[in-house]
Amino acid sequence: MTAKYTGKCLCGGVTYVAEGRPVIVAQCHCEECRRLSGTGHTIGAMFGSDAVAVCGALREFSYSSGKDSTVKDSTVTKAFCATCGSPIFGKNTRLPEHVTLTLGTMDDAKGLEVEVVIFGRDKPHWDQLGEDVACFATQPEWTPES
Ligand SMILES: [Zn+2]
Ligand SMILES: [Zn+2]
Repeated sequence: MTAKYTGKCLCGGVTYVAEGRPVIVAQCHCEECRRLSGTGHTIGAMFGSDAVAVCGALREFSYSSGKDSTVKDSTVTKAFCATCGSPIFGKNTRLPEHVTLTLGTMDDAKGLEVEVVIFGRDKPHWDQLGEDVACFATQPEWTPES
């Protein structure tokens, strides 16, 4: 049976289906991914473009990438839900036949693991937890005064 991954944005206006296993699942700590996500990294699953079908209204933003790495300059395009802004996928002119879906928008990423970390050099010190950080199963009762 062919693997199938479905996903959607926060508001549900954008949905997607990806068929087959991803080429790779990568976590990226580059500055662009940090600003895009609002956190310390993105995690993306790369698929062949033919394997992915996306429905719904997207907006796109493109930028130049690669000037600061070992690969040559390329244009990266990020696609977001036009309504809620969830990042859905990215593509890179260096690998034109591929799209990278954000793992956090996937309904069930069962069987997928991060296989590689890139731009580890730029990983922020706050993007990892110390052993003494309290972990609650849900939002706890808490106010700034408590
Ligand atoms: Zn949305
Ligand atoms: Zn990145």
